[in-house]
Amino acid sequence: MPERRTKRGADRTPLNHDADVVVCGASFAGLAVARELAGSGARVVILDRYEIGERQTSACAAPTEWLEAMGTGGSIRQTFDDLVVHTPHVTTRMHLPWTFSTFDYRTLCALLFEQVDAEFETAKVDGRTDTTVHTDRGDLRAPLIVDCLGWRRMLNSPGYQPPEAPLSRGLEVHPNGASDELEIWIDRGYVPAGYSWSFPADEEVRVGVGSFDPSFHVKEPTLRLADALDRDAVRYQGNWIPHRLRGAVEDDVFFVGDSAGHCLPLTAEGIRTALYFGIACGRELRAVIEGRQDRGAALRRYGAFSGLYWTKFEVMLLVQRAVFCLHPRALAGLVRAFGRRRLSHWGFDHYLEIAPPEFVGASSQA
Ligand SMILES: Cc1cc2nc3c(=O)[nH]c(=O)nc-3n(C[C@H](O)[C@H](O)[C@H](O)COP(=O)(O)OP(=O)(O)OC[C@H]3O[C@@H](n4cnc5c(N)ncnc54)[C@H](O)[C@@H]3O)c2cc1C
Repeated sequence: MPERRTKRGADRTPLNHDADVVVCGASFAGLAVARELAGSGARVVILDRYEIGERQTSACAAPTEWLEAMGTGGSIRQTFDDLVVHTPHVTTRMHLPWTFSTFDYRTLCALLFEQVDAEFETAKVDGRTDTTVHTDRGDLRAPLIVDCLGWRRMLNSPGYQPPEAPLSRGLEVHPNGASDELEIWIDRGYVPAGYSWSFPADEEVRVGVGSFDPSFHVKEPTLRLADALDRDAVRYQGNWIPHRLRGAVEDDVFFVGDSAGHCLPLTAEGIRTALYFGIACGRELRAVIEGRQDRGAALRRYGAFSGLYWTKFEVMLLVQRAVFCLHPRALAGLVRAFGRRRLSHWGFDHYLEIAPPEFVGASSQA
């Protein structure tokens, strides 16, 4: 279990700061926002209850081009040209037009933080009143507040609670081991609506199960899959995963990553989109810091930018629901069709286009 290292005793200095920007959450979304503000001259404070990179929040697989573009290629552990998909009736190797890589979370966060020019404090965020963020170490005040705290969407009241909220469940184990294949299983024997995975990362394999139905518990199938793959069920990691886009601004707060439902439905890929929308938000904030727009304009523009994705996310949500209603033989036919290079390249290219890696180098429009 990760050790919670909120400063204690004499080290536990109270927080009582004024800042230009407070970024709550120091994972993919929070670090991407802060990275965009580097060199702007803004006083940026990042808060997280854990040290940076201390607590892995996912299986850590993302398009390689994104990892390279963010200057985090050094965190890559293994790279894959193919995705192997198993259903009860067929196993298909889908060739990818671009590669996926698994990476080391701690290294990736350290590489992102090296590019950030901000103060970092370990503190638990408890809530917010207007422009004041309340933490277990005291209060911080800033005109620009960003919630990158994950699915709970802490800085919005009322919060975001399962099972009513549109959330999936994900759980995985991280045994030592090796494999050359990035594999997923679409098999109701493990999960009625969802999928299971085995993502190798050099000397460990991340084996897990995700359910789009929040009431379906995934521990037993995770153990069963690990057993079937002859992997030890050790080092658990699990969380809720949003599968529906939410408003990215509310009550003068910016929401990025899982807090805004930026994780893609159907695939539950949320790292790339947390980085993507983090960059978009950071660019709007930078324009405020540099006097090119006011906070109201930044809120409007970032909210509108995220809102442009509503239809794409809803379509993916519809497909998420439809796929798991398919008869197993129809599903097998669909999966087999994606074994054809032309179809898989077409599908995966469109999929990458939702949040393309070129965005990292593109200039701000604000
Ligand atoms: C089992 C599992 C496997 C997954 N695998 C993948 C994958 O391989 N690829 C992929 O693209 N996506 C994957 N996802 C989805 C992905 O993890 C998320 O979409 C992504 O982490 C979202 O990033 P984020 O920065 O918005 O939030 P998070 O990564 O959840 O970060 C939130 C941060 O806020 C901090 N925090 C939370 N509450 C508080 C508080 N009250 N006070 C202070 N700090 C707080 C946390 O410590 C954390 O650092 C997976 C999810 C799960 C559950």
